[in-house]
Amino acid sequence: MAPVPATMKAVSIAKNGGPEVLQYTDVPVPQPQPDEILVRNRMAGVNFIDTYFRSGQYPSPAFPRILGQDGAGEVVAVGSAVAVPHAVGSTVVYMNGTGTYAEYSTVKATSAIAVPAGVTVEDAVAVYLQGLTAWTFIRRAGLTQAGEWAFVHAAAGGVGSLLVQLLKGLGAKVIATASSEEKLKIVKDLGADHVINSNDDWVAKVNEITGGHGADSIYDGVGKATFHKDLEIIAVGGSLVMLGNASGNVEPFDIRSTLGPKNVRLSRPIVFAYIKEHEALEKYAGEVFEFVRSGKLKVLQHGTYDLKDVAKAHADIESRKTVGKLLIKIS
Ligand code: NDP
Repeated sequence: MAPVPATMKAVSIAKNGGPEVLQYTDVPVPQPQPDEILVRNRMAGVNFIDTYFRSGQYPSPAFPRILGQDGAGEVVAVGSAVAVPHAVGSTVVYMNGTGTYAEYSTVKATSAIAVPAGVTVEDAVAVYLQGLTAWTFIRRAGLTQAGEWAFVHAAAGGVGSLLVQLLKGLGAKVIATASSEEKLKIVKDLGADHVINSNDDWVAKVNEITGGHGADSIYDGVGKATFHKDLEIIAVGGSLVMLGNASGNVEPFDIRSTLGPKNVRLSRPIVFAYIKEHEALEKYAGEVFEFVRSGKLKVLQHGTYDLKDVAKAHADIESRKTVGKLLIKIS
């Protein structure tokens, strides 16, 4: 195995702003803490959350900061007190390490798992963070049951395309939106029962499709632009999962008058909390990878970018033209 160098290439930000603040630069290779592993990244993922940290919609604790939430690669060093053994030379997939737009990242050993046999490194990175998001949010927040109406916003996106398939797999009746006819065709091919262009009057269409019943569960990563309309289409006692803010953060609201009339169950989950315990990570990741291996879950990939072209990937995901996951090839 090649020795670990002192410095590496990475993409970091020194301030908030547009994609142009992403700088391809040389930085020191991070050193693993006793409970961490050091990974030589082969692939990293681009997630919409990266744009929140880049723009300042979410604050960063300090600058410069390497962005990137998920990655996969070879374990090249193991801390002295890791709780979960990862052999040097094994291939792992992980999230929530130091920024993954980098040749090397450190991550808590308990936050990584081995890429299973039968799953490519590309598919592993493409499905890991977004698949765990979709699957844990269905199982722990939306609680969608077979036969119920489930509604998915931005259904051609990374999380959305996985939500549609997983909800169909559970036997739900899925209504999904996307903002172009090309995307809607893809979403229909993934199994959605009804697709609606999000530029149309989707409130009226959902009421028409469900015969006035409304959606028993709603999965919304759009946020500010859709939250109040969600309340118009939710069924009595329905579950509204606000999972992101692609259009901006939802503004403060009055709980009683907003949620009371339909006894709405509102959640705003963050995936990391559902997989904080390694046992939970292994359970949900094992289920997601089994869906991939068995062909039940198609992992759409928009494209693969070089590390130095991360800014282009950010511009693309913000353009609303992408379908599925954006990947960064590192080595
Ligand atoms: P996507 O691939 O879904 O890209 C975002 C999509 O949002 C776009 O393709 C677009 O689809 C839609 N969109 C709607 N309004 C806007 C807007 N104003 N600007 C840009 N896009 C818009 O991204 P991800 O799969 O990475 O993430 C999807 C959502 O899930 C995000 O909100 C993200 O923050 C959230 N998320 C939350 C997690 C959590 O732990 N809570 C974990 C992972 C993701 P269209 O044009 O078809 O509407």
